[in-house]
Amino acid sequence: MLKTFSIGGIHPQENKLSAHQPIVAAEIPSKAVILLGQHIGAPAKPIVAKGDVVKVGTKLAEAAGFVSAAIHSSVSGKVSKIDTIVDASGYAKPAIFIDVEGDEWEETIDRTPTLIKTCALSSEEIIKKIAEAGVVGLGGACFPTQVKLTPPPSFKAECVIINAVECEPYLTSDHQLMLEHAEEILVGVDLLMKAVKVNKAFIGIEANKPDAIQLMTKIASTYAGIEVVSLKVQYPQGGEKQLIDAITKRQVASGALPISTGAVVQNVGTAFAVYEAVQKNKPLFERVITVTGKSLAKPSNFLARIGTPLGQLIEACGGLPEDTGKVIGGGPMMGKALVNTEVPMAKGSSGILIMNSSEAKRAEAQNCIRCAKCVSACPMGLEPYLLGALSEKGDFERMETEKIMDCIECGSCQFTCPANRPLLDYCRLGKAKVGGLIRARQAKN
Ligand code: SF4
Ligand code: SF4
Repeated sequence: MLKTFSIGGIHPQENKLSAHQPIVAAEIPSKAVILLGQHIGAPAKPIVAKGDVVKVGTKLAEAAGFVSAAIHSSVSGKVSKIDTIVDASGYAKPAIFIDVEGDEWEETIDRTPTLIKTCALSSEEIIKKIAEAGVVGLGGACFPTQVKLTPPPSFKAECVIINAVECEPYLTSDHQLMLEHAEEILVGVDLLMKAVKVNKAFIGIEANKPDAIQLMTKIASTYAGIEVVSLKVQYPQGGEKQLIDAITKRQVASGALPISTGAVVQNVGTAFAVYEAVQKNKPLFERVITVTGKSLAKPSNFLARIGTPLGQLIEACGGLPEDTGKVIGGGPMMGKALVNTEVPMAKGSSGILIMNSSEAKRAEAQNCIRCAKCVSACPMGLEPYLLGALSEKGDFERMETEKIMDCIECGSCQFTCPANRPLLDYCRLGKAKVGGLIRARQAKN
């Protein structure tokens, strides 16, 4: 029997419209806007100024603390200003604006397609290179990778788990990356194992990607200690805690760090970025992104430069369809509606989903009928109907005791609710409010 996580889960329609579309290099934008905060933690500190000439790969901003990440230019040209722009969250955020001229790369970057398997660097040197390249978790969380590779001394890493699940409907960027860059990904996994000094790694892939499982298994067999695990298709298996449970049968306790189970989880795209950073001296300034939707003329997988306006990628797929209802940054389950399509692509941009007007329409919310379907679906063992009611009432203290901070915002509860209750919205609001309460309490103490 295929492995999966033990609590909750749902089976939304997959709609992988761009599956097996080869990765195409997207056109370089004429103006790039590089956000300074593309990761969890402090926004990076600019080290360039208006008028500076930069190349592809030039460092633009330095990590501003332990939990932060460096930012590099994805284009060559001149810095026109440092200003704010509305990002995917809908808030104005600081960014470096660059007028693009040509496509000149830093000479230190190895642009040849030669696969480099061996690496004589120590664990510390590998982690330093990853930090210098500004690598962050590419599954969406954008946690600076070097931080995850340096767990607190009280924890000991026992294995690396690679998240190649891609359980979000519609998204296909990780699947296609595995089909086209399996060799590089495996070297990246080996480097991650060296970085955290373990001799075991698991690559979790859902069974709906048999070609990726076959290819990755074949290449993994040439490495010591790397095992590909075929997983039952079940959303949200890509959640860190769910994936650890599915593969190791260990559960992360409420409020505990995933490393408490001995697992260091990294996304498959991150493993590829680690390969490029360590073996090719290439900072993270481009990534694979899926642009998709039922009414879109040409759903595609692009290799696009960070800072490209998302609207440019939509244009490359035939433009916004007439019946567009909503443009989502990410997938349909965890993604968020974009306020406009001028939002620049960031390191965490895994997809753009164009929902047509009938898909985007929300059915009217009814009263809760106490069916408990949301409770059965919740992979964190929470009571979403109760969290929703508390959020509606503004009782955030009680939400904290009901463990709202354990919510992974997967949307399984909302998906399954026959009364169309906006449970995910309630949970997101509650988490934001309770997060604020916790921070205020910490500041006081
Ligand atoms: S969004 Fe939160 S409450 Fe709802 S199912 Fe997911 S983890 Fe549970
Ligand atoms: S699924 Fe919806 S209707 Fe059923 S208990 Fe949960 S909130 Fe109520």
